Amino acid sequence: MKRTLSIETVHKVGEEVMLQGWVNTRRDHGKIMFLDLRDRSGIVQLVFSTSQESPSTSLGTGKPTSEVSQIRAEDVIEVTGMVKERPATMVNPKIPTGSVEVEVKELTVISKAKELPFPIDTDGYDINEEVRMKYRYLDIRRPRMARNLRIRSKVTTFIRDYLTELDFVEVETPMLTKTTPEGARDFIVPSRLQKGKFYALPQSPQQYKQLLMVAGLERYFQIVRCFRDEDPRKDRAYGEFTQLDLEMSFVTQEDILQLIENMFTALVIKLFPEKHISTSPWPRIPHKEAMATYGTDKPDIRKDKNDSNELAFSWTIDFPLFTQQSAEDFYHGSGAAKFAPSHHMFTSPHPDDISLLNTDPMKVRGLQHDLVLNGYEVGGGSIRIHQKAVQEKVFDLIGFSQKQKAQFEHMLTAFTYGVPPHGGIAPGIDRLVMTLFGEPTIREVMAFPTSASGQTSVMDAPSEATDEQLKELGITSSKSPVGHFTKKT
Ligand code: ASP
Repeated sequence: MKRTLSIETVHKVGEEVMLQGWVNTRRDHGKIMFLDLRDRSGIVQLVFSTSQESPSTSLGTGKPTSEVSQIRAEDVIEVTGMVKERPATMVNPKIPTGSVEVEVKELTVISKAKELPFPIDTDGYDINEEVRMKYRYLDIRRPRMARNLRIRSKVTTFIRDYLTELDFVEVETPMLTKTTPEGARDFIVPSRLQKGKFYALPQSPQQYKQLLMVAGLERYFQIVRCFRDEDPRKDRAYGEFTQLDLEMSFVTQEDILQLIENMFTALVIKLFPEKHISTSPWPRIPHKEAMATYGTDKPDIRKDKNDSNELAFSWTIDFPLFTQQSAEDFYHGSGAAKFAPSHHMFTSPHPDDISLLNTDPMKVRGLQHDLVLNGYEVGGGSIRIHQKAVQEKVFDLIGFSQKQKAQFEHMLTAFTYGVPPHGGIAPGIDRLVMTLFGEPTIREVMAFPTSASGQTSVMDAPSEATDEQLKELGITSSKSPVGHFTKKT
């Protein structure tokens, strides 16, 4: 018999159905026993009564057993039975299938469940996070977590559809690549074929998306994983995160801001109708004004901070192109330069300020735009430099050595083959979804996040490599692997 989902039972009164799923709860009332069966569509009540002929049961292999009473929460079962209207007094208006129940004729236990290490019928915030991560596959059974992942998927689907409709092309860019400095430390991956050399995992696809503009795609996006070895914060996960990376040619900053504002407004209306955007068009706050008025470049401009449904988007613009910091801090540089990019080294100076690059670089404004939502920076981007000479000048100002410049030679070369003016942005999906859901941390909207100490969910990484693996890579590890030491005699 074909499987029926629990939600479909409401349309099948009087029909025999087959359901498969987990035992959500079990309630014994003497002669009658209720199980709630849970599947991806929700839950439905199953009834086992002793007044009816006791249902035939089988365990796993089809071996018959009469022990319906041994069924416990989280067992995976299959049942066949008759869908019945519940008596008026028994209707549960709180669930979509509350008007029906399934009188079970046959039950098969497909897989038994041990007692879970924690409850999953609560919101789970009070449970030790390490334990939640260790058993993340159980934690995701929690309705809040399952809902977060489902709606997150709707968010990314909405974005894909919206941008594809506007002629954007989704392109996958390499994960094994060369450093793309976004101001964080790189994760590096040793090369086996070229011993002593390393790939870097991308901090973002910044250079590739610019190269795709040189390639003539004009409109690119990618929902992409980025890797940054930086200390975790509550709105940033350790190690990796997902961003909507986007780039356009022949546009002004205005075009980028409009696109994002239109898209996210449409997204909120469609997927979060209970939320309201407090001010439209979204305020654009010059960096100087944001610092003077709010003391931050990501101001929380909600009108009522107790209103969980208020979404206050704003743009921070007119950033200075550089901040005063040593290049050493920024990019393991020579230490000779006084300037580091406020955003990244590909951000274009304001065209009116180009001459100041020679005379007073700290006065140069950058064509950077940051997207802020309820006090969180949820995205940043800029119009890019597309002139070789300007890019070289910025490299000089941030104190790049010849060797460091050589690492970006491909960009300068590309800029000699006809490059369209271009710009883009990269809203962080995790942070955006976290704020839209009103979740306290980014890990609540990720399936398998890494803990604050850098430990992965469920699987025990990072872990030691074997001696053979290291040998093959031509690497020696200075730290002896835990548990492998030579006993001194
Ligand atoms: N690459 C930048 C980032 O990841 C975003 C951008 O400039 O488009 O923050």
